[in-house]
Amino acid sequence: MKLFSDYHTHPQGHRVQPYTQTLLQPWVDSARERGFTDIAFTDHDRYHEGIDFDEIEKLRAANPDIKIRAGLELDNDPVHSIAGKRWIEKNWDRLDFVLGSVHFLDRVDQMFDSVPVGAEQFTGRDLDEIYANYFRRIREIADTGLVDCLAHLDLIKIHGHRPKSPIADLVAETIDFIAERGLAIELSTAGWRKPVNELYPSDEIVRLAMEKEIRFTTASDAHSHVQLGENYERLAEKMAQLGIGNVCVFERHQSQLCAV
Ligand SMILES: [Zn+2]
Ligand SMILES: [Zn+2]
Repeated sequence: MKLFSDYHTHPQGHRVQPYTQTLLQPWVDSARERGFTDIAFTDHDRYHEGIDFDEIEKLRAANPDIKIRAGLELDNDPVHSIAGKRWIEKNWDRLDFVLGSVHFLDRVDQMFDSVPVGAEQFTGRDLDEIYANYFRRIREIADTGLVDCLAHLDLIKIHGHRPKSPIADLVAETIDFIAERGLAIELSTAGWRKPVNELYPSDEIVRLAMEKEIRFTTASDAHSHVQLGENYERLAEKMAQLGIGNVCVFERHQSQLCAV
């Protein structure tokens, strides 16, 4: 199996850094070194001010051997995502790919996936309820009509908290929802560098998604070009075990399956 794409990357990292060739070219170099032919930039919507489509065009012209997709990660940030949604609506036709994600539960001042501090949001709570709350928010993001693919679908497990009820029961409605809307799900190696130390999503969720013929992208959630394609050998093994023989790519929100 030869994986060739990374559809979750953050060239700006954790702050606004305007797109320039200097910022972006190392990501393309990194892709080429790894033998990738297709990458998507998916900075957080709260840093949309840094995104410059003309710079992406320049980068494409300078690197015709690599497909470079203009993307974004829209989350449920109670402060910033209203502006993020508006920006997506305005730029929809210039974007190839939008990820939807949930980083916020009931607290507006802290992402639950902050390591380690976000774990305090789970202390003394009913984990089934937290999982249900999280997946409800995933359905809300999926329902905006502004996303093509769900990022790190079971991020709620990040600190290692497991629900009492079977995960299949907790996720079933969400999987149906995603399938009905024709959205994709990413296979994210980021979970392997977090306390839970597990692929996002879990094998069980992947199998449920496969039953509904949901498509998958491959992703590292790299916040540095060095992290691009991290743990992809392990991901390829996992996909072979699960029987996934193709990967989904996007151009102007149209998906296409490619054999790997
Ligand atoms: Zn995320
Ligand atoms: Zn991300």
